[in-house]
Amino acid sequence: MAKYTTNDSRDLLKRLRETMAEDAGGQARLDHIVEIVSSSMDSEVCSIYLRRDRLTLELCATQGLNKAAVHQTRMRIGEGLVGRVAKTAQPVNAENATQTKGFRYMPETGEEFFNSFAGIPIQRMGEVLGVLVVQDRKARKYSDDDVYALEVVAMVIAEMKELGAFIGDGEAMSAPHKRAHMLTGGIAQEGSAQGVVLLHDPKIVVSNLIADDPEEEITRLTDAMDQLRLSVDDLLSTNRIGGGKEQTDILKAYQMLANSKGWMARLEASINSGLTAELAVEKEQSSTRARMARVPDPYLRERLQDLDDLSNRLLRLLTGQGRNPSDAIPDNAILIARNIGPAELLEYGKKLKAVVLEEGSVGSHAAIIARAWAIPMLIHATHITREALNGDPILVDGEQGIIHLRPTDEVRIAFQDKLAMLTKAQQKYAKIRDIPAKTLDGTKIKLQMNAGLLVDLPSLENSGAEGVGLFRTELLFLMRNAVPKRDELAQTYGHVMDSAKGKPVTFRTLDIGSDKVASYMNPMDEPNPAMGWRAIRLGLDKQGVMKMQLQALIRGAQGRSLRIMFPFIAQFNEFRDARELFFKVLENEKKIGHTIPSEIKIGAMLETPSLAFAPDQFFEQCDFISIGGNDLKQFFYAADRENERVRKRYDTLNVSYLSFIELIAERCNVHGTPVSFCGEDAGKPIEALCFAAMGLRELSMRPASIGPVKNILLKTDLNEARNVINEARKSGAQSVRDHLVEWLQNKN
Ligand code: PEP
Ligand code: MG
Repeated sequence: MAKYTTNDSRDLLKRLRETMAEDAGGQARLDHIVEIVSSSMDSEVCSIYLRRDRLTLELCATQGLNKAAVHQTRMRIGEGLVGRVAKTAQPVNAENATQTKGFRYMPETGEEFFNSFAGIPIQRMGEVLGVLVVQDRKARKYSDDDVYALEVVAMVIAEMKELGAFIGDGEAMSAPHKRAHMLTGGIAQEGSAQGVVLLHDPKIVVSNLIADDPEEEITRLTDAMDQLRLSVDDLLSTNRIGGGKEQTDILKAYQMLANSKGWMARLEASINSGLTAELAVEKEQSSTRARMARVPDPYLRERLQDLDDLSNRLLRLLTGQGRNPSDAIPDNAILIARNIGPAELLEYGKKLKAVVLEEGSVGSHAAIIARAWAIPMLIHATHITREALNGDPILVDGEQGIIHLRPTDEVRIAFQDKLAMLTKAQQKYAKIRDIPAKTLDGTKIKLQMNAGLLVDLPSLENSGAEGVGLFRTELLFLMRNAVPKRDELAQTYGHVMDSAKGKPVTFRTLDIGSDKVASYMNPMDEPNPAMGWRAIRLGLDKQGVMKMQLQALIRGAQGRSLRIMFPFIAQFNEFRDARELFFKVLENEKKIGHTIPSEIKIGAMLETPSLAFAPDQFFEQCDFISIGGNDLKQFFYAADRENERVRKRYDTLNVSYLSFIELIAERCNVHGTPVSFCGEDAGKPIEALCFAAMGLRELSMRPASIGPVKNILLKTDLNEARNVINEARKSGAQSVRDHLVEWLQNKN
């Protein structure tokens, strides 16, 4: 069989373009396409199968098979080789089809004679609409060029306007990007929002596929390449990811790729075969991705990833689609992403109305930022990045975990009613904002808020929080491209205290390390980052940044009282050493003439079960303890807080966990060590009530939770709640939740 050449491909594309320009109906066009493909590829059969509905494919045009089978032969998606292509959205290229897994004999088409088979999915924006097939009697291995030519034809078919008439009732054609669509997700942060889609990494849609004039396309490509190189040079000159040699090397490799002659030559060859510049880039990108999946060497894989990133940039330049980091964020933007890290999320700023992720987890730091910003965040919204397009109207219901994409008027109106009801609840909480959280039996519970950025501080007044129980200092570090300077930090800490207007602020020293990596840190390749070299472990081993932060905290206090706590203390000596380091720094600050704080309280976060069993001396030396329930729970149950599959298995109200909280409260009580709870569970009303019943008198939570938590506490007698919990424990229940919920329902 003659090898298929660039000229053949050009000829095929030219004839295809002519067919598309003809004034013909959909069926005639499909018939023409199969004819053209079969003749220019010199293959005996070319067929087009299209999706009838979600489950079935139908033969819609053929050259070479029995024509009477057209619109008669159907198969289920997944059935036979054609069904396999549709199901997996992957091409199948089989020299000996009858021996290939999945082959199904279809007598009506007479295909038992055909040994060779190549099937290509016809896809539009990730949705499989059908399958394009070529077959031959002789054993024939279709070359990469053959397969590529078929891919281009499949792309052209996918763009045919008349295709809707063939596919079910046409519904599939408007899907997934026109009709209203409802998705569900897990709730990482409650709340509701209405807005427009902003894709974090928008998929670039190449709809301009075949070009008349290769020279013009090469000029377009060369211009875009020039712009790309300039932007990479700019990146290197400003070195936005930090100054280290390693980072510069990475950027240099990136720059080298942008100048790669081989890459350019491959793109030019594709253009010469009749493709537009953007399709040539996309084709090259697909093969890079395929290679990426096969390359075991991590260095090489990274280079291929760089090439993938460069291709995306180039596609953005050629199509004018996509978003550059400097682009303005639209009003009411709701960010949609596969996943997002804390630094990337912070870059968008507080303007976002909500975040919806395809992956993500409740315990992630991105979720914590969403909480700090009090914007709803939903996770595990399957296929949202595929369904949503930039600018689509979207409603996020963070109470029910529902997302309405391109909602109908009815849904939109009902949603707006719901928003109005939520506002009413907020008004109710506003009324109790200034009264203390005292339970019916007279127990006062101190409610504080969690914060991490200066912009969070206004919530102190709005929510009625009595102070900041946890100030996550790492957020400021994660937002930056370089370690913040001491003076700047001191100034920020000073502003935080100013904004707190005398209310206490508990600063947690840097909880940074393997699970929270700033862009300027060397990536750490640890198998279990959450249990790795992080927080105080890193702070004690590499004291430079920790000392600098302690100095900044002392200076920021400007003679006021200072509360700091060390994260992730697992044993007494870590606390003792960190505390000693603080006093050494303090001594030095005094020596060089800085005002020292009027009062100093140094606490520890209890985030590992081991610390609950620390020697008495720890509890005596520690000025206060804050239970970091997010980490504590994951280590108590050995269930990764970021892994949705295991995280949900264990209820916070499980009797073992509550008994453990009670034990901590008792140990602290014996030593007179104040103890609070600052993990996310403190912000859930029933959980908060149980913690109070277990003996905790201080809770710190996101500001929006203070109203609902206070509301339940005001209406509850802690002795009664404790009795219910004890009854549940005696009953052998695993969790006290059901008993408690029933009691609360009957009470009201
Ligand atoms: C915690 O672990 O509960 C905590 C407050 O710390 P972070 O969530 O920042 O790890
Ligand atoms: Mg923690």
